[in-house]
Amino acid sequence: MTFTLPALPFAPDALEPHIDAATMKIHHGKHHQAYVDKANAALEGTSLASAECPWQVCARLAELPKDKQTAVRNNAGGHANHSLFWTTLAPNAGGKPTGDLAAAIDSAFGSFGDFQKKFADAAATRFGSGWAWLCVTDSGLKVCSTANQDNPAMAAAIGDAAGCAGRPILGLDVWEHAYYLNYQNRRPDYINAFWNVVNWPQVAEWYTKAKG
Ligand code: MN
Repeated sequence: MTFTLPALPFAPDALEPHIDAATMKIHHGKHHQAYVDKANAALEGTSLASAECPWQVCARLAELPKDKQTAVRNNAGGHANHSLFWTTLAPNAGGKPTGDLAAAIDSAFGSFGDFQKKFADAAATRFGSGWAWLCVTDSGLKVCSTANQDNPAMAAAIGDAAGCAGRPILGLDVWEHAYYLNYQNRRPDYINAFWNVVNWPQVAEWYTKAKG
């Protein structure tokens, strides 16, 4: 199938003051659209051109010829990452997860606060552009970060230096395009604000699906 830009599940100004409307409009309408368009172009004529979703492309990246892998990695990765990101944000959100996800976080990290610290550290210390992730792996929940538009679902193709191979259920985009208009160089302030807009019920749904 040809990938299309998913609609934002909220109005562009709905996450203010934490994420501003101008950033949301450009980030979704321009940056994410460009990843979709370039992923479609890069996948044309390949064995993954009929993949059902960009996450399937990430998991099967190693099947592509080497000369196709970089463009697909960057752009199908970008499409996958942003598609997940929008679903895990919501207005009037934040707080803490409940139920099975809360128990799994406590089990993996000690407490929700310990998880938040580890995730925020991963986001703050990612040099340059990339993402921080909470992932479901074969050995439980893990936190890591990846560069550029990589993600832990690509581990079969790109390696797994962070020991985080699996399925992301929450990601934070720390490219400057995600925060620079409102926060300039203050990435830590953006990371702090992010906790106010995390859609934990949706993350819990991704957790259930990823555990399958
Ligand atoms: Mn982005």
